[in-house]
Amino acid sequence: MNVNTIMVIGAGQMGGGIAQVAAQAGYKVILNDIKQEFVDRGLKIIDKNLSRSVDKGKMSVERKAGIQALITPSLTLDDGKNADLVIEAAVENMAIKAQIFATLDEVCPEHTILASNTSSLPITEIAATTKRPDKVIGMHFMNPVPVMKLVEIIRGLATSDEVYKLIEDITLKMEKTPVEVNDFPGFVSNRVLLPMINEAVYCVFEGVATPEAVDDVMKLGMNHPMGPLALADLIGLDTCLAIMEVLHKGLGDSKYRPCPLLRKYVNAGWLGRKSGRGFYTYA
Ligand code: NAD
Repeated sequence: MNVNTIMVIGAGQMGGGIAQVAAQAGYKVILNDIKQEFVDRGLKIIDKNLSRSVDKGKMSVERKAGIQALITPSLTLDDGKNADLVIEAAVENMAIKAQIFATLDEVCPEHTILASNTSSLPITEIAATTKRPDKVIGMHFMNPVPVMKLVEIIRGLATSDEVYKLIEDITLKMEKTPVEVNDFPGFVSNRVLLPMINEAVYCVFEGVATPEAVDDVMKLGMNHPMGPLALADLIGLDTCLAIMEVLHKGLGDSKYRPCPLLRKYVNAGWLGRKSGRGFYTYA
């Protein structure tokens, strides 16, 4: 099967990045969100990213224009009728993803593969909202998408070998490195990363250290390029909380309980970089 057109659902920090790397790989891209202003924000970030490459002399102005010309904005899931592959990157919420996948299953052609960029939600459960579970798969990009090499590819219970292979090939075409994992809460990446971030939040909550001190310990002592709390702000504290809830519920072990301070920040609307305030403040 040939994949020519990729639809990306959600034009936030992940969806925008996925649309960019897909267009850079030569695919036609449909970039969808619920409001025009959200699509515009995604397109603006792509423009900024590509301009940076042009300024550094890594990309010609013509190539940048060519990439942008491949991206078509969309405000309706009906546009899925033109997609060979859909990569969903809407908010980390099962009810919203279930609704999106059920709708896509109705509107997309029979051959269309439905992928989710979910950080932690079960691919098998998402697949069960469709009548094509063999064509549903996890395609978990890392943040920021244009920079990070890994795509964790998650096989749902029913994902076919043919679909897995095709997604692996597309990942390579996007100049990313695929790593195969099975469907289990948090997969590998967030099962390992998020408990560390949550523990860092506990250090602040219990007064062990300031956010700056926690991050310094992990950067200078463990050679992490970013401290866990700066990374939590980059991921989005709402997304971090949602992932901890999935680990807690899915694995049933109290060691995964989200720190109350993380919940408090999210309830206050302190979501990290995207809201201007999290463990740090952003201009
Ligand atoms: P975000 O909040 O930046 O963007 C989400 C976008 O989805 C928003 O623009 C929102 O308007 C849109 N949206 C919400 N409901 C929608 C719907 N019904 N139809 C279309 N669009 C809709 O979030 P994000 O950080 O880009 O995360 C998106 C997904 O990617 C989540 O599942 C998240 O877990 C996953 N993810 C996030 C990261 C990260 O570091 N932030 C990394 C890997 C995967």
